[in-house]
Amino acid sequence: MPNITNDYYDVIVIGTGPAGFASAVRSAQLGLKTACINTRHDANNKDTHLNTGDIATMALLDSAKKYHSLIYDCAQHGIFANEIKLDMSIMLQRKDNILAEIGDKMVELFNTHKIGHIHAKARLLNPQQIEITEDDTQIKTVINAKYIILATGSEAITLPNIEIDNEYIFDAKAALNIDKVPNKLAIIGAGVMGLELANIWSRLGASTILLEAQENFLSVLDQQISGAAFSLFQNQGLDLRLGARVISAKKSNKNIVIEYQDQEGNHTLKVDTVIVACGSRPNTANLAAPEANLLLDQDGYVYVDDNCRTNLPGVYAVGDLTLLGPMLAHKGIEEGIFVADYIAGINNPINYEIVPSVIYTEPEIAWVGQTEQALRASGEEIKIAIHPIQKNIRALAMDKQEGLVKIIAHAHSDKILGVHIIGTQASELIAEAVLALEFSASSEDLARTIHARPTLSEAVHDAALILKDRVLHQSEY
Ligand code: NAD
Repeated sequence: MPNITNDYYDVIVIGTGPAGFASAVRSAQLGLKTACINTRHDANNKDTHLNTGDIATMALLDSAKKYHSLIYDCAQHGIFANEIKLDMSIMLQRKDNILAEIGDKMVELFNTHKIGHIHAKARLLNPQQIEITEDDTQIKTVINAKYIILATGSEAITLPNIEIDNEYIFDAKAALNIDKVPNKLAIIGAGVMGLELANIWSRLGASTILLEAQENFLSVLDQQISGAAFSLFQNQGLDLRLGARVISAKKSNKNIVIEYQDQEGNHTLKVDTVIVACGSRPNTANLAAPEANLLLDQDGYVYVDDNCRTNLPGVYAVGDLTLLGPMLAHKGIEEGIFVADYIAGINNPINYEIVPSVIYTEPEIAWVGQTEQALRASGEEIKIAIHPIQKNIRALAMDKQEGLVKIIAHAHSDKILGVHIIGTQASELIAEAVLALEFSASSEDLARTIHARPTLSEAVHDAALILKDRVLHQSEY
């Protein structure tokens, strides 16, 4: 029988990913006695950010872009480098240093806010009790809380007939630690993760093939943007095979033999490295004891209402654990803050219609609001402006002229309904569009807003001006 401690918390958060971290800090700021439970993820006893994939991806993509640019782009600037060398161990160390720094900052914030940090595996017993198994001692204890926030995130899906060894066949997380550039790399799944990884490893020199089961490329995107992305990535040398469902991947001598199926039948493909990037599932296995009666759906997602409340009184779930909104770190952070506020009696609802999405490739893809196909399917009367980044003078100066900005507005009210961007720094450009949608802005509002020149943001301004028939830059270059 586990010991029952006398420790009593107002709020216990299970999981210290972005959503859990945000809910713990906000709860503490609101004067609630708070503790966070998470198993230690680092062999050196460091507190690490559970969901570091996004930051690790950013760090490696930046390194990969620098390497690629030194080889292919710098000469036209009159910059020549001889004997360009790639040292993967330094590159990976830089990435790990960034993650360690974030981990240290997290601990600092936890200490500043006097948040209890328990290194243990947690299991919900009932709406007010959690069983913890401490990492170091394996001792089981039961702790009590008035409110419990579940924030254990998601994990990568594995495929039958493919054994991940993280030596030749990697999952998406371990693919950020490969210490030698593959010669021939196959990535299974051309979703967000697969594309981001393809952008890193192909820039570092790996011949990269993406095998995607769906016939439609990036089907959640506005179709015009996904079409543009497909052409751009193909022109960059990515071998994108759609409608290619992978059946197995097996090691044979020094190769991995992949078997996949498409409309033409079965194929085999020999590569030296495979990355599986086939999606995520919620981390709910063993999260709650059966007698807790926490309601999950058939895929393991925690059932919640619009206020992130589970079926158990005082128990909330945030982030990737639920189907409320997309599986994105910033959505989880907002939910973490929302739930802490809600517990403290403050109701600041989240507008799930206006969650921006970004794919961190080069060029980047970012969007907010609705796609043209969704709006047409719902019979909405719309008007559309498309501004090619090629016409933006800052992009010309940067030699980053690929892509486009697409603004969709209501045909009569002029209210902006969706903004879709593919282009360099689209992740930054989308912030203005998010603000516009948050304030129910019209394209007139955006068109009247002065944008600094020369900036990439002028491309968004110009797209709005097109809707007003006032654009200057349409035929300038
Ligand atoms: P995903 O669902 O976006 O893509 C997985 C892809 O794998 C799908 O297109 C699917 O058709 C394909 N697939 C599945 N089985 C296959 C098979 N047998 N053969 C070939 N293809 C197969 O998932 P992901 O890219 O792994 O990302 C997981 C989650 O994390 C998503 O919700 C994503 O939005 C999120 N994420 C977000 C970011 C970001 O915000 N930049 C980055 C990474 C991940």
